[in-house]
Amino acid sequence: MKLTHHNNRLPTLARSTSNSLLSSLTSHPRRVMAGIGVLLLGTGVTAFGIAPLAPDASLLPVQQVVEEIQSQPFAPHEGASLDAWSLFRSDTLRRDDTPQSLLQRLGVSDAAAAAMLRSDSNAHQLFAGRAGKLVTVEANSRQELIRLTARWLPDDGRVFQRLVIERQGGSFSSRVESGELNVQSRLASGVIRSSLFAATDEAGLPDSVAVQLAEMFSGDIDFRRDLREGDRFSVVYESLEADGEALRAGRVLSAEFINNGREHEAVWFEEPGLQGAYYGFDGQSSRKSYLASPLEFSRVSSGYGMRFHPISGKQKAHLGVDYAAPTGTPVRTIADGVVTFAGWQRGYGNTIEVRHRDNQTTLFGHLSRIDVRAGQKVAQGEFIGAVGSTGLSTGPHLHFEFRDNGVHQDPLAIARRSENIPVSPAARARFDAVAQSMRMQLDAAATVQQASAE
Ligand SMILES: [Zn+2]
Repeated sequence: MKLTHHNNRLPTLARSTSNSLLSSLTSHPRRVMAGIGVLLLGTGVTAFGIAPLAPDASLLPVQQVVEEIQSQPFAPHEGASLDAWSLFRSDTLRRDDTPQSLLQRLGVSDAAAAAMLRSDSNAHQLFAGRAGKLVTVEANSRQELIRLTARWLPDDGRVFQRLVIERQGGSFSSRVESGELNVQSRLASGVIRSSLFAATDEAGLPDSVAVQLAEMFSGDIDFRRDLREGDRFSVVYESLEADGEALRAGRVLSAEFINNGREHEAVWFEEPGLQGAYYGFDGQSSRKSYLASPLEFSRVSSGYGMRFHPISGKQKAHLGVDYAAPTGTPVRTIADGVVTFAGWQRGYGNTIEVRHRDNQTTLFGHLSRIDVRAGQKVAQGEFIGAVGSTGLSTGPHLHFEFRDNGVHQDPLAIARRSENIPVSPAARARFDAVAQSMRMQLDAAATVQQASAE
């Protein structure tokens, strides 16, 4: 038994490895049995213990307990053909992967296959562009490649690409095909013990679902400060699947979040002719004129705190909210508006000012990058620059101000004022049907979680 201390990113890596192992096991349960001695090599049972909730729980070290399994060398019984079984393995493509490193990680040792992946134009599509593509290989007992399959979504997509490379006698064939994505809805639920991301990891939810949860309830819950141990959520979300494999999560269709005993709910609804929005189950939209935060909630930014400057009116130079975040974190405008200033200001360094309706303005200071120019129109949520440490700043952070007719206001208080727009009478019946179906799915999600916790 080994006891190691890490920051909380490592256990996730460890787990994702065993997850891909599990998924390769479950998708080919029978054919992989003979190879199981090989598959377990180097893996272990991991368990995570997280320190009790504290102000900055997400920054606390996570204790990882690793129990190593002694693996036996695989010994086929006398007379068994080595080609009688094949080994399936899946892993995701990494940014710095070469054909060689990818095959090696997948347990394939095959110089001819590596050479083919280097020279084949279809295989180039796999290594070009984004990392994270899921690659599955089938190999024989001599660790030679029999088949490689990879599926990914092009940027524009409702259609996925499937690369297939197959051994045919002494050589390989390759092809890239397009396939229709299948949109499935999935249910999940979780309990907060330390942070939102720890809970969504535990529930097996992708990060994009965690981010959507935080954003859709951001007007009511400040996920950086308000979470309590024991808070609960249930969620229904779209999963975009290719050949039964989830490629990425789509939109959160409905969610319920119980924070500090208070229940918050939302359901996605698109009225004909209007942009879709989240509504309460009562049919009131919770659309906000101002986003609660100029930084999108993310795994990185969630661990950082906020500092408020006193809004006294005397200390005119430095009023607002500071968001600690790494240099380069994207900064977004919290409402529609027009950029009135984009450039250098004493003390503030690289600065952007945006004018919104009713003579309300926002200011972003200490930026490392400015992506807009004065006079440009910006839409709510649009990225306009990046966090930095320019001007009079002691470290990377965003200095953010909100002014109403020149008077400083607390941006969070502003964001909590929402305009409620009800579903139109014409769409009411359809909304009620959607809401009822979502209500049932959320209740089912909560039951699944309770059952698994018992
Ligand atoms: Zn500041």
